Amino acid sequence: MRNVYLDYSATTPVKEEVVKEMIPFLSEYFGNPSSLYGPGLEAKAGIDNARNQVAELINAEPAEIYFTSCGTEADNWVLEAVCDAKSAKGNHIITTKIEHHAILHTCEYLEKHGVEVTYLDVDSEGFVDPAAFEAAIKDNTILASVMMVNNEIGTVQPIKELAAIAKKHGVLFHTDAVQGLGNLPIDVKDLGVDFISMSAHKIYGPKGIGALYKRKGIQIPSYVHGGAQERKKRAGTENSSGIVGFGKAAELARLGLDEHIAHSRELRAYLWEKIQEQVTDVYLNGPVDFDKRHPGNLNVCFDYIEGESILLLLDCNGICVSTGSACSSKSLASSHVLDAIGVSIARSNGAVRFTVGDFTTKKDIDYVVETLVKVVKRLRELSPVNGMEGWD
Ligand SMILES: *Cc1c(COP(=O)(O)O)cnc(C)c1O
Repeated sequence: MRNVYLDYSATTPVKEEVVKEMIPFLSEYFGNPSSLYGPGLEAKAGIDNARNQVAELINAEPAEIYFTSCGTEADNWVLEAVCDAKSAKGNHIITTKIEHHAILHTCEYLEKHGVEVTYLDVDSEGFVDPAAFEAAIKDNTILASVMMVNNEIGTVQPIKELAAIAKKHGVLFHTDAVQGLGNLPIDVKDLGVDFISMSAHKIYGPKGIGALYKRKGIQIPSYVHGGAQERKKRAGTENSSGIVGFGKAAELARLGLDEHIAHSRELRAYLWEKIQEQVTDVYLNGPVDFDKRHPGNLNVCFDYIEGESILLLLDCNGICVSTGSACSSKSLASSHVLDAIGVSIARSNGAVRFTVGDFTTKKDIDYVVETLVKVVKRLRELSPVNGMEGWD
């Protein structure tokens, strides 16, 4: 049995070079980065270097990068802070129906506190319509938040176009770029965005460290109150080893970006080709044009069976994937993303998300497809709705 990890959008293994860079910051450079003696200054220097590395990956200035505890915190911070800072101008924000829960649940929280939220529809491939986006802007709109790349179906949004529309109307623009970082070139100046959220553990860095890019000149209140860390914007003693690991991962991502994209695209295309060749009744979710998807993402519905069962049987064979829908013991809750692109509940229950990455090999894909064929065949033999017309 092989062990094959095809869930790079959930998290990535930490690269060896990253671990190596982090270790001294867990040992000899243990000092508090705010302290003025040797070990503190070493830690401070490591953080400064990492800030440069993260900034360089997105063509920002180091002073525009604020480290947070994760991507989720960056999302929470920017939404709450802009609503706070711009309350005199208005209380309306625009987002989409397919955002990550870090955005959607923050919006629900803000709605309870008097903020009005428009959740834009997306088309059958998950794209936001720029005209619909512009039409949703009102006099009291203060912020728009549209994710760069969807974590379930891989859709890459036209961020540059949307940011330009927002700017024209004096609306601040944020993008959750957690799935975009390290998977496509990001240039904040070219994109014209005001804020982006990032996370280290999706780019072969450690967990528990993220960052917010905030364009120079924009004022927002801090989210975590306390000491003067992160230029008084994010209190709390810095996670120096995590920050240094994030910096190294960002540097590796920048230097290896073209190779990473080409490798992921090639194996993802190979996986889809083999699945279509060997399994019947399968449907692709997300953009058909693979150039408009996350380079490693493949989201597929297998008719008549449940993604959850596929996941469990693949796991028995050493393969890690994720499902498009969460099946709890009491109810079948379908994915909000598949729902938004119009996939029926029955079909979306059979969704599986595969994400390939830097350590995936062609042999891995061959093993996954060979196993998948057996697993799907077995589950369909057991399925009472197998081949039934109108089952969904
Ligand atoms: C993983 C993810 C997050 C959350 O990042 P954490 O660092 O795990 O909090 C936010 N948005 C998207 C799109 C993600 O994929």
